[in-house]
Amino acid sequence: AGLDEADEAVRGTCEDASVCKRFAVSVGYWKDPYIQYFVRQAKERKAPEINRGYYARVHGVSYLIKAFLKKTDCNCQIVNLGAGMDTLFWRLKDENLLPRKYFEVDFPMIVARKIHNIKSKPPLSKPIMESHSGDSLLIDSHSLDSSRYSIVGADLRFSSDLEEKLKKHNLDIHLPTLLVAECVLVYMTPQQSANLLKWAASTFPVAMFINYEQVNMTDRFGQIMIENLQRRQCNLAGVEICRSLDSQRERLLLNGWETARAIDMMKVYSFLPQADVKRSCKHNILIYLLEGTREPRSHSNCLLLETRSQK
Ligand code: SAM
Repeated sequence: AGLDEADEAVRGTCEDASVCKRFAVSVGYWKDPYIQYFVRQAKERKAPEINRGYYARVHGVSYLIKAFLKKTDCNCQIVNLGAGMDTLFWRLKDENLLPRKYFEVDFPMIVARKIHNIKSKPPLSKPIMESHSGDSLLIDSHSLDSSRYSIVGADLRFSSDLEEKLKKHNLDIHLPTLLVAECVLVYMTPQQSANLLKWAASTFPVAMFINYEQVNMTDRFGQIMIENLQRRQCNLAGVEICRSLDSQRERLLLNGWETARAIDMMKVYSFLPQADVKRSCKHNILIYLLEGTREPRSHSNCLLLETRSQK
């Protein structure tokens, strides 16, 4: 595939992620009143292991984000890299947990779609207006900048352009900063993701990076994911780095981060609220019967990674 087609394929993964999340929300795995405004309902049921995987992913990532917000008393900023149709800004506002400013970055084409949804749907635009003070709310088809929420259209492979655009929206590199990449780095070559990690480590004096992505793609689930990427004609170079938790840790340590920790999703799953796990298991038994799936698939091929840079 040519470069543009490969990028188009990567942009398609944003739709995949939100459709799966919306489906899991619609069958009660977790609450998200906002996702319905960003994507259509799935045409078919999703397999229970997919729902459970997304549940653990969303729960795990927001658990770490909230821990950072509490530790900094919300005197911090969040930069969500490759945010797609993520709804975290609205969910944090509902919980009174907004950071000083919440930034999102994605390809300009994805950002345009997100802004179009925000503009046309009051349940999305109202919370942005409510959290805005002062007069300069900037909104055009490719960027939005309010006092607490900003969306930037940029390519994560070009960090100087990224930094310039974020700074135009008042990014403050001296605030404690949480960078989040949920299923994003895998779509770049090892060199490109290394550059992004290096940029983040050298730009923010106090920062943490949450990376969620697949590891150990040699098992059955990994093969299914690779086939899916191939079908979409995505660039598979990023898969190479995702061999093990150790290779993930090493990548961060080699690119300017001082400590790195990685845990696999089986562990995250065991930390989930037990009431939810029991509820979702009961729910799953039903769906298994309906859908005829016999065994739950292992999620040990996903990882959640937490790192810290302190200089
Ligand atoms: N983080 C969101 C989530 O978990 O729901 C979306 C995940 S989706 C699998 C990957 C996202 O990363 C897509 O929205 C895609 O457009 C974005 N992305 C991938 N490579 C990018 C790049 N080079 N520049 C900007 N965005 C990128």
